[in-house]
Amino acid sequence: VAGIRKGLAATRTGFIARLTALFVGKKEIDPAILEQIEEVMLTSDVGVKTTQTVLERLREKLNRNELADPEAVWAELRAEAMRILSLDGGPLRFPTKPSVAMMVGVNGVGKTTTIGKLATKYAGEGKSVLLAAGDTFRAAAVAQLEVWGKRVGAEVVKGKEGSDPGAVAFEATTKAKEAQIDLLLVDTAGRLHTKTPLMDEIKKVRKTIAKAMDGAPHEILLVLDATNGQNALSQAALFKEALDPTGIILTKLDGTAKGGIVLGICDELKLPVRYIGLGERAEDLREFYPDEFVEALFG
Ligand code: GDP
Repeated sequence: VAGIRKGLAATRTGFIARLTALFVGKKEIDPAILEQIEEVMLTSDVGVKTTQTVLERLREKLNRNELADPEAVWAELRAEAMRILSLDGGPLRFPTKPSVAMMVGVNGVGKTTTIGKLATKYAGEGKSVLLAAGDTFRAAAVAQLEVWGKRVGAEVVKGKEGSDPGAVAFEATTKAKEAQIDLLLVDTAGRLHTKTPLMDEIKKVRKTIAKAMDGAPHEILLVLDATNGQNALSQAALFKEALDPTGIILTKLDGTAKGGIVLGICDELKLPVRYIGLGERAEDLREFYPDEFVEALFG
């Protein structure tokens, strides 16, 4: 928890400290408490919908005199956070050999870096890992993946610049099957404004993976950048609609004081957060457990 707390320092001194300030030293519940909580939540990227839901529930409890003092209101807020975050998540699953996970998300959110971090983790645990450079239009993305590959001793399957990403994914999946690799991580493109709509391209990649291996991909992980705030939420809605991801990886939580976005994402999308990014080093990618996270945030 200490490490997560450190990564969440900005959010703790921003969002959480502002919330706490409404309670410390108070013996009675301030009649304006709901408005004050609302203000903090909205300016911390929790989002309008989730903020309203939480406030409505608090209001009902206050009206029924179920919350006796500020401490009880605080405990209730913490319980609400726990309720919202408690979706069926957990780390990557390995149902078969190979287990195939696709990373999707717009450019710059941290897809390639996250693949590198996951590869480091699982290769470090003795699993065999193969990487597929599915963003064939960005030479830099391929090069970045190769750096990670070299570092962890994982092969990278790539195509010629501008080649069909589906073909790369097909080749990688076939290779992973033949070599009985534990984990295949597939990078995908993230540019939004091109002739081929991004979602169509990613769907095609998904289809070719399924063609190469029944039941694959086993995971489609949507990578979102916490510093994008409400934009991350609208991106997520688009990706959810098109691809039905199995979970979220929320990066760059270390770079925002508005970590309330985690609540908005889980509540509005009902997609579990599986990992969080708390920095650029491999060990800064953390598995996400709601109780641990709430403790790191509120505790
Ligand atoms: P992609 O375009 O989605 O593949 O994004 P990249 O993997 O290239 O990442 C973009 C930038 O975000 C890089 O400079 C990464 O080091 C940085 N980054 C990724 N995850 C995190 C994180 O959790 N925290 C911080 N501070 N930076 C991150």
